[in-house]
Amino acid sequence: MTMQLRCRCGAVRGEMDTARAYVRASCYCKDCRAFARFLGQPDMLDASGGSDIVATAPATVRFTAGVEHVACMSLSPKGLYRWYAACCRTPLGNTPRAPRLPYVGMVTACFDAAPQAVDAALGPRGRTVINTGSATAPVRARPLLFVTGGLRILAGILGARLRRERTSPFFDSSDHPLRRPEVISREQRAALEREAG
Ligand SMILES: [Zn+2]
Ligand SMILES: [Zn+2]
Repeated sequence: MTMQLRCRCGAVRGEMDTARAYVRASCYCKDCRAFARFLGQPDMLDASGGSDIVATAPATVRFTAGVEHVACMSLSPKGLYRWYAACCRTPLGNTPRAPRLPYVGMVTACFDAAPQAVDAALGPRGRTVINTGSATAPVRARPLLFVTGGLRILAGILGARLRRERTSPFFDSSDHPLRRPEVISREQRAALEREAG
């Protein structure tokens, strides 16, 4: 199905084809939490400090409005690019710095659909969990689903490579990121981590 994307204020809109999503997973790493704090959007985290992410091929995502509001930050000089709608600080997705790696972790906070519709298209939130060791409250690790999820991501990346897909809404045709990423300082990052726990 086509998942509509929408930032909180509605200026940034887009869509994503869910049929080729790799896996839906909750990530409990400190970086994802620091990103939520950076945006001032603690509500995007679950009770254990997890971010709900759908890993997919960038070619399945496109923006249809407000692309001028799309901004990029990074928590460190080599960290992931973390994309968000600057108009209202809604998270969009995380990509590797390497433009040719067909991976984006879309943050479901920008999905414009009822939770039941998201579950129906992509499976329930929190079934696959990663980085549970840094959760803020105990989360039951499910090793088998973790491995399955990892394999689905690998298979998806290989499939996208075989298709020779070059399109990503986050990089231009010369492989440059759509926006110059704002790399925050170590001090800023440390402050976000302290806040985020
Ligand atoms: Zn907005
Ligand atoms: Zn994470």
